[in-house]
Amino acid sequence: MDVKDQIGFNLPHMFGKETEYIMEALRNKKLSGDGEFTKKCHEFFEKKYTFKKVLLTTSCTDALEMSALLLDIQPGDEVIAPSFTFVSTVNAFVLRGAKIVFADSTAENPNLNVEQIEALITPKTKVIIPVHYAGIACDMDPIIAIAKKYNLHVVEDAAQAIDSFYKSKPLGSLGDISGFSFHETKNVISGEGGMIVLNDEKYFKRAEIIREKGTNRSAFFRGEVDKYGWVDIGSSFLPSEIIAAFLFAQLEHLDVIQEKRKTSWNIYNDLLKPLEQKGIIRLPFLPGYATNNAHMYYIICNSAAERSALVATMKKQNIVPVFHYQSLHKSPYFNDKHDGRTLEYADYYSDRLLRLPMYFQLSESDVNRVAESIHSFYKST
Ligand SMILES: *Cc1c(COP(=O)(O)O)cnc(C)c1O
Repeated sequence: MDVKDQIGFNLPHMFGKETEYIMEALRNKKLSGDGEFTKKCHEFFEKKYTFKKVLLTTSCTDALEMSALLLDIQPGDEVIAPSFTFVSTVNAFVLRGAKIVFADSTAENPNLNVEQIEALITPKTKVIIPVHYAGIACDMDPIIAIAKKYNLHVVEDAAQAIDSFYKSKPLGSLGDISGFSFHETKNVISGEGGMIVLNDEKYFKRAEIIREKGTNRSAFFRGEVDKYGWVDIGSSFLPSEIIAAFLFAQLEHLDVIQEKRKTSWNIYNDLLKPLEQKGIIRLPFLPGYATNNAHMYYIICNSAAERSALVATMKKQNIVPVFHYQSLHKSPYFNDKHDGRTLEYADYYSDRLLRLPMYFQLSESDVNRVAESIHSFYKST
């Protein structure tokens, strides 16, 4: 029996100028942070998405940690976030002593169930963190309305949400602050990498300080102060020029990347539609207010056991699908801190959601092979 080439879950891709730009950074004799390439990346995002201010960070995790510092989160402050998310969404706030109050996902897709938020608010609540799962927007208007009503901050975890929109507004531009990721599994990559987006001028100055170890070095380099020193708390959140140079080469191809991923996404969707129509599996749900940035293609199986059997079958055919988050409210770290509420849909997606291979080089025949494998599994069960 001939064994077909493996279709992995993710493959990083280079567009040609990554190493050239890294060499240019070397020639510029500037490899630490905030050189020419960092500036170019900042300008790219501020212009393309009209973000008020962008600062590259070494990860989205760092951007979220910066958010918690910027919002002066204190021990006992409460943060409302989905349980079906990556640990960094909330760990960043736990580091400041915050208490996490987990909300459930919606029945339609893994995003935050907005209808449940208000009941979770107490006098100690400070922040709501919508996570745009798979790059598909949360319903931001009601979230922002609730935040206004109770005087709360909104931090968007936009790690997966590059080039995606809510009612024509770019994701990342709707909350007070937001974080993006350029981890190698995201649409645009720099290995590890991220950025913080500041949508309110009142954070600009302090964000620079927090990102530069609590010093006013950025203002010093602009000539605004004649010496720099320790002025606040902070850490080292800025990436080197090597990372920014790599990232900029990717950003120059953003449109190509997005087009290719959307093509693969649509082929998956067309090929798997019949299984959804027969009620055999569920496919991603896109609300009318959201665009699709093709960060991820997932299916929803009927049970954890069915998903395991499907994964085993696909792996035998040398295809690597992967499931995703395990509800954080049931995690070893958080389990005994959770207030006992059942979060039905967080568990539902933990048990049933399966992500299919999705990356730039994925070919149409690869997508066909993956879809065929799923079809044949369900034909035989
Ligand atoms: C990838 C991801 C993160 C973490 O991003 P890093 O850049 O790896 O720190 C956080 N939240 C979500 C929803 C993610 O998908």
